[in-house]
Amino acid sequence: MQILLMGPPGAGKGTQAGNIAKEYSVPHISTGDMFRAAVKEGTELGKKVEACMKKGELVPDSVTVGIVRERLMKDDCKRGFILDGFPRTVEQADALSKILSELGISLTSVVNISVPTEDLIERAVGRRICKKCGATYHVKFNPTASEGVCDSCGGELYQRADDSAETMKSRLSVYEESTRPLIEYYKKAGLYVEIDGRQSIEKVKNDLFDALRRD
Ligand code: ADP
Ligand code: AMP
Repeated sequence: MQILLMGPPGAGKGTQAGNIAKEYSVPHISTGDMFRAAVKEGTELGKKVEACMKKGELVPDSVTVGIVRERLMKDDCKRGFILDGFPRTVEQADALSKILSELGISLTSVVNISVPTEDLIERAVGRRICKKCGATYHVKFNPTASEGVCDSCGGELYQRADDSAETMKSRLSVYEESTRPLIEYYKKAGLYVEIDGRQSIEKVKNDLFDALRRD
């Protein structure tokens, strides 16, 4: 099962990818998470990508494709995977298709979580993430039982540096220019399914599982 989860920043990809990864026992591969981990650890990669992320710009394709290639070659991807936040450009999509053909596999599903632009800033600004286990919450739409404390592991919550209204504006315009064209790209490939991401987290989850079961 090779799943690609698409959608604008704040659409709910990470939230839903976690559910799919658990249900199908496949790794959740998020380029954003990989870059944030590298920045936190202060690695060479982290130093390369930090400035782009802070400004809400895309990390260069060559860097991004390199880390995805390396990740997809790992043994735990043999049973499948779920990609979240990659590809984000046509060049990345072409590179992905090359990597997959080298591996002798292809995508099984491409699902786009569609959310109108006007909702996305509120989603990102209210997003909170657990420092310890990475669980994602929202101050209004998916609050924790106790403020600032993760429901599942008790870890402390933090807010992403790029989840400000101002940086979201750049991220959304980058999305419109570079990433939205991938909808047509995957429609042409005959793989595209869209689900309504304005619904509750639970309803989006149900629609997503229905879409995956149809494959
Ligand atoms: P992405 O990975 O696409 O950037 P996330 O999964 O991190 O998005 O979700 C962004 C924010 O919106 C999070 O705070 C999350 O809790 C919240 N969220 C996710 N899905 C929904 C939904 N269906 N309705 C309302 N809020 C949602
Ligand atoms: P995300 O966690 O998916 O919202 O990504 C956070 C940031 O990481 C983005 O705003 C980019 O700066 C960078 N990033 C993540 N994935 C990619 C990608 N596929 N291509 C380029 N940059 C990316």
